[in-house]
Amino acid sequence: MSEPSNKNIYSELSGNLTRGCLFIISAPSGAGKTTLCNAILKKFPGLCYSISHTTREPRTGELNGVDYFFITDDEFKNNIKKDTWAEWAQVHGHYYGTSAQFIDRHLSEGKNILLDIDVNGARQILCRYPQSITIFIMPPTFDTLKQRLLKRGTDSEQVIAKRLKNAETEIAQKDLYKHVVVNDSLPEAIKTLSAIVSANQTS
Ligand code: ADP
Ligand code: 5GP
Repeated sequence: MSEPSNKNIYSELSGNLTRGCLFIISAPSGAGKTTLCNAILKKFPGLCYSISHTTREPRTGELNGVDYFFITDDEFKNNIKKDTWAEWAQVHGHYYGTSAQFIDRHLSEGKNILLDIDVNGARQILCRYPQSITIFIMPPTFDTLKQRLLKRGTDSEQVIAKRLKNAETEIAQKDLYKHVVVNDSLPEAIKTLSAIVSANQTS
């Protein structure tokens, strides 16, 4: 199944009626996106996290309905047919998607939402909600990225190799994003990210 095109489905919700703000965070795997998102969510309790759906296996410690909704390939593909995703993509060989119902309901309630999605997903969300604030997290160096993936210890060598290969393609698209934050010193990156959220959140 091929990913959706970037057709402009600019809805009423992305116009004047929208009160909440969407923050899209993308990064190559291992750059520290999850660590940074968790820190930001702690700092801004009003910010709600969009829990994605995925067909990949849970990592040790990951919980269904907390880190992701873990679903089967068939469930995912049925939802593509039913057009329930605000965006979806295949990343590192698995499906990942964001519920349109979740986003539209929370935006219409005036909530600010944080999305941790890949570059293809970010493009689709930008078409649907053009006012989204886009942030790309960069590792200080490619070698640091590799070290962080190894240190995290959650993925096999084969999976790490695949993620590093994809990282080059992802980094090449960073100009799509309004903000680029280098995650070298964690406290500095949290400070920069917090300033972006503070300046753009709507409530
Ligand atoms: P991602 O969600 O982008 O795949 P993680 O948040 O899981 O990345 O981070 C990958 C690893 O790097 C984790 O072990 C995390 O603790 C570590 N890490 C994250 N940010 C930093 C940083 N600024 N300095 C050193 N280690 C970091
Ligand atoms: P991981 O498997 O390491 O949790 O995530 C792998 C990649 O999938 C990351 O780049 C992450 O941002 C991306 N991702 C997670 N959820 C979604 C989603 O709902 N949609 C899209 N397009 N990408 C996602």
